[in-house]
Amino acid sequence: SERTFIAVKPDGVQRGLVGKVISRFEERGYKLVGLKAIVPSKQLAEQHYADLSARPFFKGLVEYMTNGKAPVVCMVWEGKDVVRQGRAMIGATNPLESAPGTIRGQYCVSVGRNIIHGSDSFESAEKEINLWFGKAGEL
Ligand code: ATP
Ligand code: MG
Repeated sequence: SERTFIAVKPDGVQRGLVGKVISRFEERGYKLVGLKAIVPSKQLAEQHYADLSARPFFKGLVEYMTNGKAPVVCMVWEGKDVVRQGRAMIGATNPLESAPGTIRGQYCVSVGRNIIHGSDSFESAEKEINLWFGKAGEL
């Protein structure tokens, strides 16, 4: 069955939004198959966002994910179309485009403090699950 990697970022954890995120996915009908809270190493965060390494906000993004003020809550969710549905439920990256009713559209206004991550493709999902949880078979 299809799987995706969803992570509540440190600002979402600090604001107490983990339960709300889990509820939304559970209520939609998805199954939680992996869950842990960790402060990622700089290397892990850099690998996770490797595609963005040339962007001006990259250093700040890695610092935000790794500063340890709160952990990242890492999740693997499973179910029909969960990669695309997960992205739809999360909402757009740009706060002005994240629709009310989406997670970002309900809980945040800043692109640099946007609560949650979701894999953007099957390939990213597989890569990210392996990166954060180890090989998929170990889940
Ligand atoms: P994510 O990968 O975290 O789910 P996304 O796929 O919606 O987010 P990406 O383009 O992959 O968006 O950007 C990754 C993350 O980098 C964003 O979620 C945000 O935290 C940060 N980011 C993106 N653009 C900016 C920006 N202009 N300024 C600051 N941070 C940014
Ligand atoms: Mg992304």
